This record gives sequence, C-alpha cells and structure tokens, in this order.
Amino acid sequence: MAVDETTLDTLTEENAELLQAMIRNQCVNDGSPESGHETRNANLLRDELEGCGADIEILPVLPGRDSIVARLPGTDPDAPALMLMGHTDVVPVSPEGWKVDPFGGERIGNEIWGRGAVDMLNVTSSMAVAFRHIAKSNKRYAGDIIYFGVADEEAGGVYGARPLVEERWDALQCDYVLTEYGGTPLMGDDGPIVLLTTAEKGADGQIITVSGEPGHGSMPYRTDNAISKAAEIVRRIEAYNPGAKIDELFTGRVKAQNFDAETEAKLLDPGRIEEALAEMEPALARNLHSCCHTSFSPNIIHGGTKINTIPDKVELEVDIRILPGETTEDVQRHLHAAIGPELMGSVELRPWSDEERGSTSSSTETPLWGALVDSIQMTYPGARVMPSMVTGGTDARFFRRRGVPSYGAGLLSAEVSLGEFMSRFHGHNERIDIESLRLTTKLWLDVCDRLWV
Ligand SMILES: [Zn+2]
Repeated sequence: MAVDETTLDTLTEENAELLQAMIRNQCVNDGSPESGHETRNANLLRDELEGCGADIEILPVLPGRDSIVARLPGTDPDAPALMLMGHTDVVPVSPEGWKVDPFGGERIGNEIWGRGAVDMLNVTSSMAVAFRHIAKSNKRYAGDIIYFGVADEEAGGVYGARPLVEERWDALQCDYVLTEYGGTPLMGDDGPIVLLTTAEKGADGQIITVSGEPGHGSMPYRTDNAISKAAEIVRRIEAYNPGAKIDELFTGRVKAQNFDAETEAKLLDPGRIEEALAEMEPALARNLHSCCHTSFSPNIIHGGTKINTIPDKVELEVDIRILPGETTEDVQRHLHAAIGPELMGSVELRPWSDEERGSTSSSTETPLWGALVDSIQMTYPGARVMPSMVTGGTDARFFRRRGVPSYGAGLLSAEVSLGEFMSRFHGHNERIDIESLRLTTKLWLDVCDRLWV
C-alpha cells in the first residue's frame, strides 16, 4: 500500500530489529535433522504477527523444525493469492573468517552484520514486517496474502517446503510466490537494470562409489588402491568441461551487465567464453560460468579404514547442477566422458537424492511480473527488470512444480555490486545495508498495491 516516508522509516526500523533477533536465534542448519532449530524463529515470527488480524499456524515437521504460515484473507475468493515466502534457517559459519560475531546481529554504521543478513533473513523479516503492516491496516486486497516462514531451505527443504507443500497444501495454497532472491540494481549507461529470478538450475548430485582391491599397506606396488583411483577421478572431473550453453536467459543476463562490447561478444561465444571468464573478477565469473554450464563440484569424500590397509572402497559425493532442458541422462553422459571408459569399470553411480532433479522456471507473462516491474520502477525510474536464473536451489522449485509462478525478488540499494552481493551468500562477513531493507519492505507493499488492480 502506498506508504509515506515516516511510516516507511518506522517499518525499516522494525525490519532491522527483527532481522537482528532472527540472526541471534542462530538457526544454523548443517543438514542433520537435529540442527536448524528453526522453531526459535517460527516462535519469534508468531509473536511478531500475533494480533495483527491474520490466521497464524505453526507447521511442525520434526521437533525443533517448525515453520510458520499466516494468511490474510482477501475480499474475493476467486482472486489469486500471493505468498511471501522466506526461509528461517541459515548455513554454518567459520567464525575465524569473520570480523564480528556472526550471530551477534550487530548494527555497525548503516549495516546489520551476521549470518543470514543476505541469505535470506533480511527478506524473511522484511516480508513479515510488510505483511503485518497490511494486516493491521484497514486495507484489504482482492486476493489472500500468505506469509510463509519456512524451515530447512538450506538443506533441500526436507524438513520444510518439500513435505509441507505435499502434505499441507490446504494451509499453503496460493497462486503466486515471491521468495529469494533478486533486486540488485546494475547501473549501466542506459539506466539501471534489475535482475529477478525466474528459474533455477536442477540439482542432480551423484554418489560415485570407487572400488579397488584390499591389501597390506606395506606392499603398495601394483595394487588397486581405491583412494588413488578416486583422486584421479576427482582430477578428471575438475578438468572436464561440458561446454557452455548460451541460451536466451544467459544472453539477457550478459547484456544486462553492461560489459564492454569485446567482453560481451566473447561471453556470448561458446568458443571464447572461457577466455572472458578467466579475466573477470572471480565472484562474478563464478556466477556467470554456472549460469551457462552444467557444473560438477566434488564436495565429500569417504574412504579407507586403517593406516596399514589398502582401501577397497571410496565414496565421492559430487554436487552437480544442471541447466534447463538437461536430464539425468545428460549427467550420466557427462560423467562417463569425464571419468573415461577404463576407470568407469571401477565406478558405480547413484543419485544423491530421490527428489525430482530438473531445472524449474516461471514465465514472466503474469500480472505479478508486471506488478514487480512497476514497483521497481518507482524506486529506480526507467529500470529494466530482467529475468535471471539462480544457480543454487531455492524453495521456489516446489511451488513451480505445482504450476505456481514463483519469482526470486527483493530490492537492494545501489551501494553493493552484484559480485560483492553474491560473495556474501554463505560467505564470511555477511551483512546488509539498512537502505536495502527499506527498499525491499517497500517493494512488497508496492507489489500488493499493484497485483490486484
Ligand atoms: Zn537462501
């Protein structure tokens, strides 16, 4: 709803304080069922929303892993419902890399520091504050507005969106979803460009079991050591280049970035893109590379039993992210090509997860996209809003697979470059500036004003 500057100041202050409290709750998700403790943030959000006029429900999956949903009914039961979804968990930290306590939620100058400040407690808190503001006002929109603070996004939604979308659709029912992430303005010669997420890569992680022959470690000559073979497999996967796929989404993304003509031409040429990426700042190069390549990252290795025993088994877990249109058959083909026929004889592949693996995307031909564009242009006049792909996974995929258009959105100040912003995701010294909290809160209110007209 049209919000005056003084009200927006108050909401921004509320947002900052809620974000600090959420950071201090340390809902650190290491992937184990007993981590996360998102009930702390679910309870905090319930306390924040209680009495605002919305129907609130805590959604349990496992003890300690509660999520929260709140629904503000619209005036027209046939009007589409909009969900604002933010996750309440964060990834672990390596405190020695931080300049401050990662869970202190400190406000330093015009920034809030701490794990989750950009991924994505900033968005989760701004959505709660905007939702509460609408609920407490007399204004009612045609469609329902749903606030969903969800657990376990950072470990695949196993104790969050995945079972809840399957089993509690009655509570989550919606026609559109806004979630992480987007909204970094890129300042170019033709005015600002703002990227929002409309697609995400698929995840088809594989567990590679490498077999060898056991033997005595005192006589390694001409033995079949599974660790040595796994090392060679890792090396080959690292060296493998599946080739760049330059599609429409990637082309748009590169053009949005306002590179010089030479760099742009190289980036759009599969034969020269590697050259351009090699010369670019690492954080940006990494992101662009993943937006046009199937990627392979060997991230876990287990093997060996005893110092004096030649290992006969190693398990290697490889994070594999696939592009739109790719399938598990493509992944198998890539791995066979990377590892080679001879070593493949000692290898078994099995999928890391039983979840659907393909990439997901949403069309921009929706009233919600129009509302986002209009709202962003209020803050950044003349801005071009471009669809883009996120390389990691978000909970949006569970909704897209049900046919619900889902976008990653937000709106950030022009203070932070896209490369810098990306490097804060899961990185050291994660922080967000207050102006970005303000712009993101305003975005949700502006979108609601425009969606149902
Ligand atoms: Zn996130």
